[in-house]
Amino acid sequence: MTRINTRASLIKHLANDRQLRRYGDIRDLLPGPDNPTPLVRVNRVTPPDLQLFLKLEWLNPFGSVKDRTAAHLLAGLVERGELADAQLVEASSGNTGIALAALAAHMGVQLTVTIPDGVPEEKKTLLRMLGAEVWETPDDLCPVDHPKDGAIALARSLVASDTGTRYVMADQYENYDNVRAHYETTGPEIWRQTNGHLQYFLAGLGTGGTITGAGRFLKEQDPTIRVIGIEPQAGHRIPGLRSFKEAKPPGILDWTLIDDVIQVDDDPAYDVTERLFREEGFIVGPSTGAVVHAASQLGAGGNEVAVGISADSGLKYMSYFAERLGDEGLPTV
Ligand code: PMP
Repeated sequence: MTRINTRASLIKHLANDRQLRRYGDIRDLLPGPDNPTPLVRVNRVTPPDLQLFLKLEWLNPFGSVKDRTAAHLLAGLVERGELADAQLVEASSGNTGIALAALAAHMGVQLTVTIPDGVPEEKKTLLRMLGAEVWETPDDLCPVDHPKDGAIALARSLVASDTGTRYVMADQYENYDNVRAHYETTGPEIWRQTNGHLQYFLAGLGTGGTITGAGRFLKEQDPTIRVIGIEPQAGHRIPGLRSFKEAKPPGILDWTLIDDVIQVDDDPAYDVTERLFREEGFIVGPSTGAVVHAASQLGAGGNEVAVGISADSGLKYMSYFAERLGDEGLPTV
């Protein structure tokens, strides 16, 4: 009896406590206005008259800004009863797939991810470690809707197929729950964390979920906030971003919210990523380098405040970075 009491009080004692950062389930770490991701100032790799803050989305439990999207996509599917007796399929450049895989595993739902084969091996391995089935497609880096061999088309064909397994596609490109995720979490978090004092919001353009959801929320609070999208060059090497020269814009992307699109080529994006590592200790992926490079093009003056999304961690791109560094930095024999 005493033992049971002790155990009961132990369990009670170990209940969730956000202040102590003690949780009973990894999903309790998912972000939201009462559990925001950190906003951290960039001190060296920006023009001196701009206060740039990065929102560190790689500190989310499954490692990227897409934790928000995945949680909302799944919640919507569950609410509508669409997941009953079905398997999940999604086209992803990795991050959405990773978050979906972790959350689907909790629900006992099998996930198949269709993924462009040029995506770093680190992301594909992460997906397999999380129990997802990974189907590679030859559409280079960002999933495109190419009728024959794009990752999106392959995911859609699985849904349409008559294999005896019912597949449901989360469809971050067309599903408004992706936008809702950022309207309900990313936007309100930034508004609170800056006390409503910001002039610019910058986000890379992939599905457009982040910029549409957070951008809409921020503009509703203050229409003078400038919402800036970052687009890579055609044939780029920045996973997660999308060049609209080679892929059509997703249905959820609302251009009317975007004041300016800044084009960033691979070289400056990677150079700035390297500077963020070396001068500030930010271990970030290349889309963050693209965002910070774009911030330096704003021509902002007068101590304005900008918030940029740091979508994921540099640890997912070690093979890319090793390739880029070559022998640089290795001791000579
Ligand atoms: N950066 C990275 C690394 C990403 O994975 C994504 C998501 N595709 C983005 C930026 C862009 O986010 P969104 O899809 O919300 O436009």
